[in-house]
Amino acid sequence: MKVISPAIIVTMNAKYEILRDHSLLISKNRIVSIEKTSALESKAKEFGWELFQFPDLILIPGFVQTHIHLCQTLFRGLADDLELLDWLQLKIMPYEFAHNKESMKYSALLGISELIRCGTTTILDIGSLNHSDVIFEQLQITGMRAFHGKAMMDINTLYSKLSEPTKDAIRTTEELAKEFHNKADERIKYAFSPRFILSCSDELMKTTKELMNEFPGTLFHTHASENRIELENVRNRFGKDNIEVFEELEILDDKSCIAHCIWLNDKEINLMKHREARVLHCPSSNLKLASGIAKIPRYLNEGISVSLGADGAPCNNFLDIFIEMRMASLIQKPFYGQEVMNAKQVFELSTYGGAKALHLEKEIGSIEVGKKADLVLLEVNNIHNALIFDEDKIYSTIVYTCDHTNVNSVMIDGRWVYLNREYTTLDVELVKERAREELKKLLNRVN
Ligand SMILES: [Zn+2]
Repeated sequence: MKVISPAIIVTMNAKYEILRDHSLLISKNRIVSIEKTSALESKAKEFGWELFQFPDLILIPGFVQTHIHLCQTLFRGLADDLELLDWLQLKIMPYEFAHNKESMKYSALLGISELIRCGTTTILDIGSLNHSDVIFEQLQITGMRAFHGKAMMDINTLYSKLSEPTKDAIRTTEELAKEFHNKADERIKYAFSPRFILSCSDELMKTTKELMNEFPGTLFHTHASENRIELENVRNRFGKDNIEVFEELEILDDKSCIAHCIWLNDKEINLMKHREARVLHCPSSNLKLASGIAKIPRYLNEGISVSLGADGAPCNNFLDIFIEMRMASLIQKPFYGQEVMNAKQVFELSTYGGAKALHLEKEIGSIEVGKKADLVLLEVNNIHNALIFDEDKIYSTIVYTCDHTNVNSVMIDGRWVYLNREYTTLDVELVKERAREELKKLLNRVN
């Protein structure tokens, strides 16, 4: 049993309660009680429970990032100032193809280290064609909560080496789902991941959706409507736009987690709404690849699920949710007015909203009795932080003035993975050193 006593708890429960002088009691991986600090601390002493006192820190739910590419972390800084299709063709796809198990391992570990330090406790991650088993292993070892799936591609006009026959894509996907879905006390789950419509045959898309039905609790993770040239290519092949094609293929529903959705037409927006499909919004990546700005306030007004993700390290170049929250808020204001995407709303998209997008809202996304203990402690006393953080300013303090340097501790599934600014499951100096070595070897394999 563990007792955590912070200064303030930002619960993100249905009433958006902010609690002072309250502590959490955690048994194994769940929050079993929220009580007055004095009462829980004396019980902790009486029963010999572990007591973690943070009298100056703010306790918030762990952040959920719904679109990440751990397999690309090694390529940070190697593909700057390109638009999407060149970025894929000239850089990212050849690099991904050159991965071996060791380079994939350190790419994943580098990404997970950064995500944890930024307070991210759950991710929806898309892999490459190969070595997804390595990513699953590292997610298990480091304690991250994650959906992951291998990228499926049976057509690749950009870089033909990075594709495989339809039946091989299906077979390896099924094997991975059997082996890893619901692993580690259900902390690890499978996401079926056709990369994007242009890299997939109709047969691959439809068969994947059928296969997914055999694995309850999995998701369908893909990219769509990111770039205008992509859009033209989709129209040339299908005579219609991305989401309309998904609808025709009968793959669109509330399990569809679709990254970007920048250039949706009115019909597509309607389809997203009525099928309850999820928009995974990656504002930094959308700007850096010159892709565009998704009409997020409109989607939210329509009641469409929107959550946030950093995308991959080479198109951002951070994996930091604080940067994504800030971007998501600020980029809309010139178009929709100063009041849209306010701090509270954006904080919700990256906590409870992210959990809901992944159908995990009964387990994570808020601090409530019965939920899994995915928690972040923020130390808000840097020179860049607001001097006053009254309750009505707390979301603004977190979203507009915090960054990764404010994260003091992180718990996932009841286990400290970062405590008082020290990793407990990762040797980051070793990860950095080995990642550098593996990148050098990988670049030799590309050339
Ligand atoms: Zn992506």
